[in-house]
Formats: sequence, structure tokens, C-alpha cells
Amino acid sequence: MSTPLELQFVTSAAEFSQLPQTGVPEIAVVGRSNVGKSSLINALSNRKGLARVSKTPGRTQLINYFSLGDTAAVVDLPGYGFANAPARVRATWQPMIEGYLLGREELVMILVLVDGEIGPTKLDVQMLEWLQSYDRPCTVVATKHDKVKSAVRDKRKRELAAKSGVEQRDVVWVSAAKNVGIDNLRTLVRQWLGLSSDR
Ligand code: GDP
Repeated sequence: MSTPLELQFVTSAAEFSQLPQTGVPEIAVVGRSNVGKSSLINALSNRKGLARVSKTPGRTQLINYFSLGDTAAVVDLPGYGFANAPARVRATWQPMIEGYLLGREELVMILVLVDGEIGPTKLDVQMLEWLQSYDRPCTVVATKHDKVKSAVRDKRKRELAAKSGVEQRDVVWVSAAKNVGIDNLRTLVRQWLGLSSDR
């Protein structure tokens, strides 16, 4: 097993300009609510309660910043696609996230989470196309691998990649519940952030 990512919650911000200006590389995690984002962050760090921070009332709509040692960071973006989010929430979400994803200089990789069981939603596809149109570095992470029956896995993997507009080999499959693909994703995260294997 690879060493868990030692993430420490640092701060929440309503705008990316309020985030620490450390200059250290960071990766961002984005996806619709319920896609499994908190479970994945907990699994990567092997700390069950870590992402609870991001679920604390008042913080769910904020950018949550975690340090990874003193040379890297992971940023948890608010989940999109609340079916009945008030217009006020939706109106503030967009400029906040778009500003961050396009403007944050420290950002080296954006993990776009899609639900492996149901495939990318319309909003996921919009997000991916939008990021691709700006040439932003992104990786599709398909969650809940354990929920896809083994008999349909190959077909599902092909479909999911095609809908996401990426090659099948570029999709990272994970199950936070069954610890599938977590080691692999930790290794990738460390590579993107330029960290050695024990940080
Ligand atoms: P978030 O809203 O994106 O932070 O999603 P959560 O991490 O809170 O997960 C949403 C729901 O999906 C919860 O009921 C989780 O228990 C479930 N879930 C998350 N990851 C997995 C997984 O890998 N496998 C299964 N079977 N369920 C998962």
C-alpha cells in the first residue's frame, strides 16, 4: 500500500483570491454533489473525518484548501448540480469556480469526478468540455467502481470514456468503499505535484 496523502485542512475561502498565496503546486477536485468526492479525499488521506470539513454547514459552498506537507496542496471545490439549489447559490458558485479553475496559477491538475455507476451527467460533460476548451489540465476520475457489476465493466468503461471525451486508458477508476485504485491515484497525485513517494 502506498503512503496516504498527509492532508491538513488549512482554510475555506469564498473567492480564490482569498486562498493562501503560497506558490506551491496544487490539484483541485471537482464534481457534482454525491459523486463521492468526500469519500475519495478521505480514502486518499486515509482519514475518515477529513473531508467532513467540507461538509460543515457554511463550508459546502466554499473552496476548501488542504496543505500536503509544505510543498503542495489539494483543493476541494464545492459540488455542483444541486437539483434545487437556490438561484442565489448557483449565481455565486459559477464565478467562484470558474475564476479559480481558469485563474489559479498554482493549479497543475483538475480531477473531474464522474459517477462510475451512472456515467457522466450533462453537467459533467459541460464541465469537461469547458475545461478542455481552455486547455486546462484535467483527468477524469470515475468513482464507485464497486457498484459496477464485473460483467458490464468493460462496456461501461468504454461508454464512460467516450461520453467524457477522453481515451479509456486516461480514465482513473476508483472505489473509496473497496479501496480500488486509491494507491494508483495517490501515486499520480504525487507525480503531478512533484512529490516523492513518501510525502
Ligand atoms: P460527495 O457529496 O461528492 O462528497 O459524496 P460522498 O463522498 O458524501 O458520497 C456520496 C454517497 O456515495 C455516500 O452515500 C457514499 O457512501 C457513497 N459512496 C462514495 N464513494 C463510494 C464508493 O466508492 N462505493 C460505494 N458503493 N459508495 C460510495
